[in-house]
Amino acid sequence: MLTVHLIFEARKPMSEKTLFTKIIDGDIPGDFVHKDDSCFAIRDINPQAPVHILIIPRKPLVGIQGASREDQALLGHLMVVAREIADQEGLVEPGFRLVINAGDQGGQQVPHLHVHLLGGREMQWPPG
Ligand code: 5GP
Repeated sequence: MLTVHLIFEARKPMSEKTLFTKIIDGDIPGDFVHKDDSCFAIRDINPQAPVHILIIPRKPLVGIQGASREDQALLGHLMVVAREIADQEGLVEPGFRLVINAGDQGGQQVPHLHVHLLGGREMQWPPG
């Protein structure tokens, strides 16, 4: 069901709410760990590590590929919030990873910018 939902998500017109906008608007449930005026963070529905959190701007940028200079402060804010959540989750000392997938070859499934915060296990390099 998740795959079907994500395919539908990728094809819908951008004038409609994105999946993540539906979550912050309360149309779809989300497990929130942070909310502020410009972004929010939720636990990933299909976690790839013991801690897997998505940091998402309220502004529905299609992805990092849709960002421009005017988004510079917002992008910096996402990084600082990710770092604060990593601290809340006890990940700063052991280490963690931030990931932004961009476009089809980048493995992006949801066309609304989000930063993955992954931690709680040893990470591999190179990523798959
Ligand atoms: P992407 O592949 O676009 O970088 O990452 C999208 C992420 O969104 C995936 O890790 C996927 O598990 C997660 N995701 C998809 N649908 C939902 C949902 O309805 N709720 C939550 N919390 N995460 C979702």
